[in-house]
Amino acid sequence: MNQRLVEVLVIGAGPSGCVSAAYLQSQGIKVQVVEKSIFPRFVIGESLLPRCMDHFEEVGLLNGLDAFGFEKKFGARFIKGDKICEFDFSKKHTEGWDWTWQVPRADFDKVLVDELVKKGVEVSFGHEVVDVVIDENGVSVTTIKDENGVPYQVNAKYIIDSSGYGRVLPRLLDLDKPSALPNHSSIFTHVVDVNRPEGREGTLITFDVIETEVWLWVIPFSNGRTSIGYVGPTEFLESFEGSKSEKLSQLLRLSDYYYERFKGVDFLFEPVMIKNYSKSVKQLFGKGFVLTGNSAEFLDPVFSSGVTFATESALLGAKLITKVLNGQAVDWEKEYSDYIREGVSVFSSYVKEWYSGNLQTLFFHQPENPEVKRQICSVLAGYVWDKTNPFVTKHNRLIRTVAHIIDLETQKSE
Ligand code: FAD
Repeated sequence: MNQRLVEVLVIGAGPSGCVSAAYLQSQGIKVQVVEKSIFPRFVIGESLLPRCMDHFEEVGLLNGLDAFGFEKKFGARFIKGDKICEFDFSKKHTEGWDWTWQVPRADFDKVLVDELVKKGVEVSFGHEVVDVVIDENGVSVTTIKDENGVPYQVNAKYIIDSSGYGRVLPRLLDLDKPSALPNHSSIFTHVVDVNRPEGREGTLITFDVIETEVWLWVIPFSNGRTSIGYVGPTEFLESFEGSKSEKLSQLLRLSDYYYERFKGVDFLFEPVMIKNYSKSVKQLFGKGFVLTGNSAEFLDPVFSSGVTFATESALLGAKLITKVLNGQAVDWEKEYSDYIREGVSVFSSYVKEWYSGNLQTLFFHQPENPEVKRQICSVLAGYVWDKTNPFVTKHNRLIRTVAHIIDLETQKSE
């Protein structure tokens, strides 16, 4: 079998793989990216957070993205019945980017990988990792099938697993762990948004809460298409009869705000259903490998944290590998695992408190408390490592406490 030698093998050319490979290349490290699809390819994950702009900027991938003309996202709107809560990223506690994009990922990921190739990184499309063996020193032999199904092997000092839902190393090395989050699923498609209103309303990214655990996303793109998707408990979504198109059509009737806009609009593809999407792993790294992005952990789409975690973990993982390859000591547990898990645990609290209803109590309470809103807005912008933000440091208590106070006040005034 053909053998190749690289310093770092990156599995997957999504945002995570592109960011880590771009960083490694900039440090003069020999890196190869293997990607099983041919781009452009569809993937879900269309609403970004400002924090990921820092990562694209740092590795030199931002300019290409900027030139494409994706729809700009300046905040997020949440609707529940007649109540509306809007976050504006320019009004947040933490300093940082106050906008980002909402993107069709087929286009977005293609721009990213094209930029990567322009930098001289070798990306092998149509090449699928089928087996990985890692010895006790962390040296790996990865078996890959090329676009013609012909296997070859790559020896690497490090593997970065950015394979997203492919979850290559969690599957092959038995690293999967059940998620602590409840079983939720999603069904989604794209439409040509023929009834899109003029102006700001037409471009606003919105989360329409139907009931505490059921919500609809509406993500308008700059190409006139819009992504629509429902999220809810798996049993609830499965209770709708018929094909996936029929299920989604019935679900759309539940939205008072959006029903008229999307009534009778053709779906651009048969809706996709992803069941029980939350994923977790026993460990985020091991000798000779690191998991980044979705192959490591996925919580929930409600706060659009997926891509941002994918790029945050990718950049950090790539920096630490660079240190190791340069002979410096790295404490992976502390410098990688603890850091990433800290951010994940903040978002995890927000996801749990969203579905418990407590966070929705805070979002939709009037009058708003501007300071609380600024602090929560930072979290929603992805700045979840800012220790000056009490809604970061006390994430596991503060939402519940404030919701409890609001409930007591509401009861008193009734
Ligand atoms: P991916 O983008 O999935 O890329 C992984 C790549 O690896 C793919 O191109 C794949 O072809 C390749 N690959 C897989 N297996 C192999 C193999 N064996 N060999 C070689 N290559 C391989 N995130 C957000 O930020 N915003 C959102 O609005 C959002 N909405 C979501 C909605 C739903 C319903 C779900 C389930 C997730 C959502 N996410 C969202 C999460 C988002 O999809 C992911 O977090 C994000 O795509 C992760 O990027 P990545 O680079 O880790 O993986």
